[in-house]
Amino acid sequence: MHRPEVTFMSSDRRIAYFSMEIGLETAIPTYSGGLGVLAGDTVRSAADLGVPMAAITLVHRKGYFFQRLDESGWQREEPALWVLEDFLEELPGRVQVDIEGRVVQIRAWKKDIVGVTGHVVPIYLLDTDLPENSDWDRTVTHYLYGGDAHYRICQEVVLGIGGLRMLRAVGHDSIERFHMNEGHAAFLALELLDERLKAENHVEASAADIESVHKRCVFTTHTPVPAGHDKFPMDMVRHVLGDKRALANPRLFESDGALNMTYLALNLSRFVNGVAKRHAEVATQMFSGRRVEAVTNGVHAVTWTSPSFQELFDKHLPGWRADSLSLRAAESIPRSDVLTAHRRTKEYLIHHVNRETNAGFDVDIFTIGFARRVATYKRHTLLFQDIEWLRQIAKTVGAFQIVFAGKAHPHDQPGKELLQQIYQAKNALRDHVRITYLENYDMEVGKLLTSGADLWLNTPRPPLEASGTSGMKAALNGVPSLSILDGWWVEGWIENITGWAIGEDEHGMAQAPDDTRDATSLYRKLENVILPMYYHDRNAYIDIMRHCISINGSFFNTQRMMHEYVLKAYFR
Ligand SMILES: *Cc1c(COP(=O)(O)O)cnc(C)c1O
Repeated sequence: MHRPEVTFMSSDRRIAYFSMEIGLETAIPTYSGGLGVLAGDTVRSAADLGVPMAAITLVHRKGYFFQRLDESGWQREEPALWVLEDFLEELPGRVQVDIEGRVVQIRAWKKDIVGVTGHVVPIYLLDTDLPENSDWDRTVTHYLYGGDAHYRICQEVVLGIGGLRMLRAVGHDSIERFHMNEGHAAFLALELLDERLKAENHVEASAADIESVHKRCVFTTHTPVPAGHDKFPMDMVRHVLGDKRALANPRLFESDGALNMTYLALNLSRFVNGVAKRHAEVATQMFSGRRVEAVTNGVHAVTWTSPSFQELFDKHLPGWRADSLSLRAAESIPRSDVLTAHRRTKEYLIHHVNRETNAGFDVDIFTIGFARRVATYKRHTLLFQDIEWLRQIAKTVGAFQIVFAGKAHPHDQPGKELLQQIYQAKNALRDHVRITYLENYDMEVGKLLTSGADLWLNTPRPPLEASGTSGMKAALNGVPSLSILDGWWVEGWIENITGWAIGEDEHGMAQAPDDTRDATSLYRKLENVILPMYYHDRNAYIDIMRHCISINGSFFNTQRMMHEYVLKAYFR
């Protein structure tokens, strides 16, 4: 059964989606983590649903980075080289932006995302690496999140201002809604205002000018972590944008002598949302009571389902590729079929782990997956608070093995040290628990891990996990989560039905973060509930796996999310 496609009167683009990173596919390294993967899943679902969208991002010729880890777990970064021409179509047109008074030429590369019914969403990847530009300007679209604040603001000029000009240049002239995926794209709103001011012959924006931009813009904020909100000193802004633009309407963005990209986006957007219900509450407080709605993230179901589960769903849940809600009937799939599909998916992971790291993993042993960006608030080492307790659990309750993956930002010293601490714990547990680290976490590794593990572990320090999406990928593949009650898990968690909480109080609420209490809770759940169920009551475990698919897979997907954006944000 197909639900009707979302259709519109005009076939031309009516929604523009701007994102600094978009995870198009594994081999195109233009993403760093959750934000980019979500952006990719968003355009994939827009294509499936026939939403008239076009997307803008930067081409990031040298990617985020290629990760190498030495024997001590110290991370080194190399440029992630890829051949654009193998994946993208070059467009002939050029647009220009002003950076520090220089004219910088921009070209676009196009990639079409084709949905299940054949509808296409074009992605335009902007590129300044042209012989007409100065050597430095050519590098502006090289590295995702590379360089310093000055490099970043120049990238954001290309994304927001250059992006809008490119959309106009390729002829998408009936766009009614502009979606800024995170504050990086907020210069888009400034450029929309500038278009309006030019048309009206105004210097200072009137209330009506602001309203004309406001009603067209949608802004999604993605993190409560301060580093995720770009601020640029005003003298840098004047230098890069010029006095005219920088000084024209400072009340729209200035705070404490800096341009705050989040404020700019907030002030010029009619609809503002966080990425989970809990996150919307946190963001409302952060933005002094500004109304922040919730549109909980999802993942693109077909992209993140392993081949064996795809086959299983094709057999038992026909129509699921076009309609993610079909997954709700997963309860009716025979247990033995779920077990077989998971076994095959797990073998795939274990063989990969053994080939890559020579870790000697065993398919019959309970496997815990943990993959995320290495940042201190994600608390990668919570699991290693009490090495002796872990050892005891493995010895007396049941064996387990743990696979990690994730990159630290090249400038994040504490994050890189965290990575080394994982290596130290791995050595300390050597004879009792097999632990391995897969280098170079990307979409492919993400899919292997989320689908092949028996348990997905997540231990962020609340309330800093805005949503998290890897646990949603796991749920789609019948893999339950053991997670702190933060982000999406507040909504997805039903104890002993879809997985387990860490550190909840007797009312099922997350408490103030406390590493020791959270680690104790984690060990108790493993020791008393999860491992005994896995080894001694496999049917109960498989029931939980089916609930993961039917209750969470059917809901935490980008198809449901896109419906919400269309109805609540784009056309309300
Ligand atoms: C899904 C994914 C993420 C985001 O997952 P979180 O749960 O937010 O950590 C990050 N990186 C990659 C490569 C992914 O596939």
